[in-house]
Amino acid sequence: MLCIQQTPLVFCYLSNMINLLENKIEYLKGVGPKRAALLNKEAGIATFLDLLNYFPFRYIDKSRIYQVREVSGDDVYYQLVGRISNLKTHGAPRTTRITASFTDESGTIELVWFKGFKWIKNKFEPNRKYLLFGKATVFNNKFNFVHPEIDLYDETDQLLGESLQGVYSSSENMKSQGLGSRQMARLIKNLLAQTGDYIPETLSNTLIGQHQLLPLKSAYHHIHLPSDQSILKKALYRLKFDEYFFFQLRMLRGKKLRERQSRGVVFSTVGALFHNFYNNHLPFGLTNAQKRVVKEIRADMGSGIQMNRLLQGDVGSGKTIVALLSMLIALDNGYQAVLMAPTEILAVQHFQSISSLVRELPLQIALLTGSTRSAERKIIEENLRTGSLNIIIGTHALIEERVVISNPGLVIIDEQHRFGVAQRARLWEKGSVSPHVLVMTATPIPRTLAMTQYGDLDVSVIDELPPGRKPVQTIHLYPNQRLKLISFMRKKIAEGRQIYIVYPLIKESEKLDLINLQEGYESLLRDFPEPDYQICVVHGQMKSEDKDWEMQRFIRKQAQIMVATTVIEVGVDVPNASVMVIEHADRFGLSQLHQLRGRVGRGAEQSHCILITDHKLTADAKKRLETMVRTNDGFEIASVDLALRGPGETMGTRQSGQLDFKLGDLSRDEQLIKQVRLIASAMIQEDPNFEKEENAAVRNAYKRLYHASTDWSRIG
Ligand code: ADP
Ligand code: MG
Repeated sequence: MLCIQQTPLVFCYLSNMINLLENKIEYLKGVGPKRAALLNKEAGIATFLDLLNYFPFRYIDKSRIYQVREVSGDDVYYQLVGRISNLKTHGAPRTTRITASFTDESGTIELVWFKGFKWIKNKFEPNRKYLLFGKATVFNNKFNFVHPEIDLYDETDQLLGESLQGVYSSSENMKSQGLGSRQMARLIKNLLAQTGDYIPETLSNTLIGQHQLLPLKSAYHHIHLPSDQSILKKALYRLKFDEYFFFQLRMLRGKKLRERQSRGVVFSTVGALFHNFYNNHLPFGLTNAQKRVVKEIRADMGSGIQMNRLLQGDVGSGKTIVALLSMLIALDNGYQAVLMAPTEILAVQHFQSISSLVRELPLQIALLTGSTRSAERKIIEENLRTGSLNIIIGTHALIEERVVISNPGLVIIDEQHRFGVAQRARLWEKGSVSPHVLVMTATPIPRTLAMTQYGDLDVSVIDELPPGRKPVQTIHLYPNQRLKLISFMRKKIAEGRQIYIVYPLIKESEKLDLINLQEGYESLLRDFPEPDYQICVVHGQMKSEDKDWEMQRFIRKQAQIMVATTVIEVGVDVPNASVMVIEHADRFGLSQLHQLRGRVGRGAEQSHCILITDHKLTADAKKRLETMVRTNDGFEIASVDLALRGPGETMGTRQSGQLDFKLGDLSRDEQLIKQVRLIASAMIQEDPNFEKEENAAVRNAYKRLYHASTDWSRIG
């Protein structure tokens, strides 16, 4: 197993060195089977390499041990050595706390705990010295330490002496088995001493030289055992560089591979339907951004390579018309077009707006959703099979096994982040040809995410709103300002406008949320009584006919107010609605709020968005609300969202495992990501299989990382 222990080092060949790092963690001195199982389960550490990749989450300066009498700063960290005595329990059951005295030669200071009592009571022996690290706080005019880190003090402790000490995360279970932060640090230090020299380099000397990177070995050393801030920074930079670099290599290589393999349908002509529509039926002039994007899509679809393009455009930027024009090109070339939406409401809206746009054109279009009646469904399926249907719009119902589309040339997926990657693949499989794929999203994606999450797609952006739009004005109100709100609403209704009122509906608190909505609705009925006012209600628990009925009342202006849950979030388009009131706005995520606000501001009048919350707000909620009030810029909002929540949440999907960078932070590393993408892209261009001598390190690392069973001959 360990070549280090069994054979002289000189006999370790490259592969052995790598094997060394792939050793099971239980073979590391000080671990053993029991702790290994725990490390595996709680921290995902199975091998030596995994442990090396277990990076500190922060660093503390422990270069010095203070004396109790030196403790003088509020909220300042100190490290002390002393004895613990005088454990006392205070207070009633619900407000219990434990205190103890911590004493060194210079004095005594109080320690306080509010939980973990059992553990504390048995932990300290009166005659032993402990090393304490914690933040001093003032309470009753005296300093104390609340929940300090405490370990037995070992005079020979090697770790003191490093001026910056890594803090490693560790679960309660790990702590109870002697795998707290300090022990983890010790294990890693031993491991580095044993294997540090055998960490194989992953980049070429050229790259390392050009970008002034630390060698990988020393980066690993300094990330765990930094002697100062500046070397730590360099280590971090190098390791992030690697993370992003190999990620991008895989993305770009995958993209290139796919382009080589999947010959796309060639749409050689832009024909009668397109021209007829463009010249005679376009309801408005396209914005420059729309024109540019249509051109990009046209070029893709004529290239002979399967299109995989992401179309980003903020809410209201006019993606629908772009989708339609693209579909017409597919039709002109004898193919069918598919448009898939994440919700029934949205599919219906697309169906209605597209049907109405093409009503003068000679083509067949149908809607297929979960609630399509079976007789009608049979006909649609038959017409899809025979190819007599030109455009099919629908929901997930479209990807059911029995739906066979004879000749799909273009698949458009709206709001892609709600579809899993697997579902996307399923769509591609339809029929024998690879249809072109256009993914549309209204969630503006920060550049860093676009370069990572969607790194294998080409990206088009509609970065211009149709002319004449006034930015929505957003304000934040508290419940005691409700009267003001009501008179404002009455005024807007008197001017002929319509209003949305949105309530949260979150699975975990569904019942309570529905009660909120119900109560809100009833109080609205009092403030906006019939027959002067009509209010409709739409929420996810309703039957789809009922939903549809209520939506229609709003669309036909029979109701002035729509009370709804987030089902209206995506895509709903009623230009006459100019006020969006969001109740419990603090319970919505930023991108959701932005989507909701995008429902108004679609007509020519000034629109308003009113965010209502209680006074008590978390820091994050405050930040979200401030951001909404401050800006309408979807990209800026997306960046704040990314910083607040991290990439997985931001994308509204839990399957963003591929974006779990260990060190990389998408909200801060834009520069680095851009730079690395360029470097990776140049490498894939020049040497896609990493065959050049100088790229041997990259090649080996790539294979190791992705267990590349990749057929290396494919790209040539
Ligand atoms: P989204 O990108 O949110 O899907 P839509 O395609 O629904 O946006 O368009 C929003 C609204 O703007 C629709 O009412 C649409 O008819 C209108 N619209 C789209 N493009 C233009 C344009 N170039 N000029 C004027 N109005 C437009
Ligand atoms: Mg839309």
